[in-house]
Amino acid sequence: MTTDLVIARTREELDAARGDGPVVLVPTMGALHDGHVQLLKHGRPLGETLVASIFVNPTQFAPGEDFEEYPRTFDADLERCAEAGVDLVFAPTVDTMYPTGPDTTVMVDPGPLGSVLEGAIRPTHFRGVLTVVAKLFGLVRPDVAVFGEKDYQQLVLIRQMAQALALGVDVQGCPTVREVDGLALSSRNAYLSPDEREQAPTLYRALRAGAAAANDGPDAVIAAARSVVDDIGLDLDYLALTDPDLGEPVPGQDARLLIAARVGKPRLIDNVGLTLGSGSA
Ligand code: AMP
Repeated sequence: MTTDLVIARTREELDAARGDGPVVLVPTMGALHDGHVQLLKHGRPLGETLVASIFVNPTQFAPGEDFEEYPRTFDADLERCAEAGVDLVFAPTVDTMYPTGPDTTVMVDPGPLGSVLEGAIRPTHFRGVLTVVAKLFGLVRPDVAVFGEKDYQQLVLIRQMAQALALGVDVQGCPTVREVDGLALSSRNAYLSPDEREQAPTLYRALRAGAAAANDGPDAVIAAARSVVDDIGLDLDYLALTDPDLGEPVPGQDARLLIAARVGKPRLIDNVGLTLGSGSA
């Protein structure tokens, strides 16, 4: 593949540039940071054409959420893509993605997992995410698509969708990239005031405390994480221990600890994997 970055805005431009070899897609909403770059680096050797999509998807934002304010840094994003070895940036307009308008489109129903955890707080979010990802899969027709574990429920739901709808895309996850103090990189960290930025690593501290108690079983994990949250007085949306597919955690097996909290106005999410001991369940 050439080293020159091609920018495609439409299906036709995409088709002309995508090549005939295996295609790897990394979907993003732009405002790229080192977390996105890691996904791109993970994807680079997995195919011939590496495609990054940049699209702030209106259907995954509810009215009153931050669709308008979401950071848009297209020129800097292109530089990051070029450095990471991207061949093709797909940056469609809303009209290209939603020809009949975002409010009248056919949408993907995420099923029961779409209404727990993040879905309980943002009831229409995953419907929008799965719809845009399904459309990106249809337009880009990737062999492999790479997503971050940072948005763990999203990763699980996209895997489920790819399988349930037989989309023929190999969905791969990448570990969360963090600041030195543990805060997960996120485009939304730009919203944090200096005071909030200082408080923000508490989410990861709570997750670490929970993971450190893993040998003692599920109840100990939640208690340890909760004590960190209570000490700081975090405004918690949820703290949940699940199995890797977001079902009930099983003592003695791998599990996921997930947290969401408001730090001032901004809302942050994070999660870690752990292996439970058999403790008292
Ligand atoms: P976004 O642009 O926020 O929609 O994210 C695009 C992709 O980057 C998603 O698959 C995210 O899970 C992933 N991502 C975001 N932040 C991180 C991070 N800190 N580490 C790894 N992946 C991330």
